[in-house]
Amino acid sequence: MPADLPPLTTTDRTRVRRAPARASDDRAEAYAILDEGRVAHVGFVSEGAPVVIPMAYGRDRDRLLLHAARASRLARTLAAGAPVCVTVTLLDGMVLARSAFHHSMNYRSVAVVGTAVPIAGEAERRAALDVLVDHLVPGRSAEARRANRAELRQTEVLALPIDEASVKRRTGGPVDDPEDLGLAVWAGVVPLTCVAGVAQPADDLVPGLPAPAALIQWGAGLTS
Ligand SMILES: Cc1cc2nc3c(=O)[nH]c(=O)nc-3n(C[C@H](O)[C@H](O)[C@H](O)COP(=O)(O)OP(=O)(O)OC[C@H]3O[C@@H](n4cnc5c(N)ncnc54)[C@H](O)[C@@H]3O)c2cc1C
Repeated sequence: MPADLPPLTTTDRTRVRRAPARASDDRAEAYAILDEGRVAHVGFVSEGAPVVIPMAYGRDRDRLLLHAARASRLARTLAAGAPVCVTVTLLDGMVLARSAFHHSMNYRSVAVVGTAVPIAGEAERRAALDVLVDHLVPGRSAEARRANRAELRQTEVLALPIDEASVKRRTGGPVDDPEDLGLAVWAGVVPLTCVAGVAQPADDLVPGLPAPAALIQWGAGLTS
């Protein structure tokens, strides 16, 4: 990742108010979190009410990419220019304090706000869909059948600039009040990680297929 990336833009919408020492406008840190994350929570207002929808996503340089059926409410709303807030969270651990009050979680998260723009042009749309597939498993887009014209027509592909955005993270152990440190209550951190399990071949897989390179490189175990 280039070392001289410009900072994220902090506005009234993205300024972290609580525990600002845990916040950052470091673009490289935001990209690292987005590249490691798997699920984006996409928030927007529909018919006057808030909606938050979990979605796959990808990152192409300074753009966060989303895709959805063109007919879906999400695609129609975002393509019409509705403001959107996308958050991605990595959960790193459960923080157990002596007091109930100071229980917490270790995490790294990013919030991006702005307006998503539909990507036009077949080549650009295909490239964006490759990024989305490769975000699931790196290198996978080169192995899968690409979208045909009908599939492309049905799919909205949207790009949200990663600019007005914020990073927040918590690391370390519990922070108990001094008067609680002597309590006979266990305190500490339970680390959490997201790991790939053993890949399960589809029941109707063509017999005798070797393990795909993308899975091997990704480190997913395979049943023989
Ligand atoms: C990990 C993950 C990744 C996904 N990736 C994509 C993606 O890349 N593109 C995509 O189009 N869809 C994706 N989905 C599905 C997505 O969450 C929505 O279900 C779908 O986009 C919209 O469905 P809809 O048009 O029926 O819902 P909408 O009309 O948008 O929503 C109607 C109501 O249905 C309910 N609803 C919709 N989705 C969910 C949900 N996931 N869980 C619980 N309640 C729900 C809510 O109450 C919502 O208000 C993903 C889901 C998950 C969990």
